[in-house]
Amino acid sequence: MTAAGTVTVPAAARDLAELQLAKLRRQVVYLEERSPFYREKLASAGVGSGDLDSLEALARFPFTTKQEIRDAQVAAPPLGRHACVGLEDVVRLHASTGTTGAPSWVGVTARDAEVWTELTASSFRVQGIRRDDVVVHAAGLTLFVGGLPARDAIERIGATFVPIGTGASEKVLAAMQTLGRTVLHATPSYAVYLAEVARERGLDPRTLGVRKLTVGGEPGGGEPSTRARIEADWGAPVTEGLGNADVAPIIWGECEHQQGMHLTGAEWVHAELVDPETGEAVPWEEGAEAELVYTALERECCGLLRFRTRDRVRVLGLGCACGRPGPRIRCVGRTDDMLIVLGVNVFPSAIRDLVSELHPQTTGAMQVVLREPGPGVAPPLHVEVERADDVADEAALAARLEELVRGRLTVPVRVELVPPGSIPRSQMKTALVRLDAPEEER
Ligand SMILES: [Zn+2]
Repeated sequence: MTAAGTVTVPAAARDLAELQLAKLRRQVVYLEERSPFYREKLASAGVGSGDLDSLEALARFPFTTKQEIRDAQVAAPPLGRHACVGLEDVVRLHASTGTTGAPSWVGVTARDAEVWTELTASSFRVQGIRRDDVVVHAAGLTLFVGGLPARDAIERIGATFVPIGTGASEKVLAAMQTLGRTVLHATPSYAVYLAEVARERGLDPRTLGVRKLTVGGEPGGGEPSTRARIEADWGAPVTEGLGNADVAPIIWGECEHQQGMHLTGAEWVHAELVDPETGEAVPWEEGAEAELVYTALERECCGLLRFRTRDRVRVLGLGCACGRPGPRIRCVGRTDDMLIVLGVNVFPSAIRDLVSELHPQTTGAMQVVLREPGPGVAPPLHVEVERADDVADEAALAARLEELVRGRLTVPVRVELVPPGSIPRSQMKTALVRLDAPEEER
């Protein structure tokens, strides 16, 4: 176990690869022995633990999709045919909801919980959380994997965890007023929303003592305008983390240089980039944009090999001023959220970032309104945008936004301005797309 507050120095790349390969072999042998789902899946793909002579050999193994995990759970409830242990060995159940479909259970053994604690603590350490920090947790606490595992990790570091959860903005503000210097852990949308709530109460968020914000759960924390706005609102820097409900709570973490996230969970999770259409490997090179695929290297209950996350990320570069090797990434969006307009791929989060750029004329809140499910959308894309209360010339603001989106994202949009507060706020992930089917209009 690492002493509280010490920084985990990443092993040299070669040592890391050797460690990953040794753990991967052990994990695949374990899955072949204990998981009916993987035993059959690997056999029918004609691969097995004996083929793992290098990490690259993993590319010959089949992917695992979220749908397969759902089906495996329906076939053998509650944990699923992919699980390697029974409920008697499980100390906690989390739920993974995903963006579509029914939630599935994620079982965690005592050993899994310990691995998750170290893995999640690694991200928080890289994000600069120290023993003397007081972390106000204003994110989901219950079934959400970013809840209790975040508590375990913050406590492992030795910092003070304040479990407020969501739906309690007044309590968060009161905590900040009495605790002095704090770190806010929340989704980026909630950080924006909470600053609005503070100002409505006559409080300047910059006076509340927040020394930094650690955000995650959705892409906004890495979008330049959204991040700039959160930092201006709170007068404190933002770093972000990224994980996956089925694989591990927080696998990536951004250091104080704020140049994208480092793979802080590499000792426990192997990450690959693949082309979301073809599944072909995409090299970790500056500018690469592809889907993240994870393999859990140490998992007792729910092992996952080459799990398709549907998270689309961009590699900002390799190496960092902090000395950490490897890629620095941003999450661009969910492959599921991607829309295609006139052949151009567009993520709603990218439009939101442009809407934030026109803050304070806009509140920053927006929703893409679809007549039928994407990804293909007939132009122009309909976008509802909240204007500020005191916008003098609405037509000019709408035209400016349409021009901005067309110029930066090469997508034609029709902006409809709506009054402040009319787009629902979420304290978890804010829905950036709304389906308004014509038959539902009354
Ligand atoms: Zn760094």
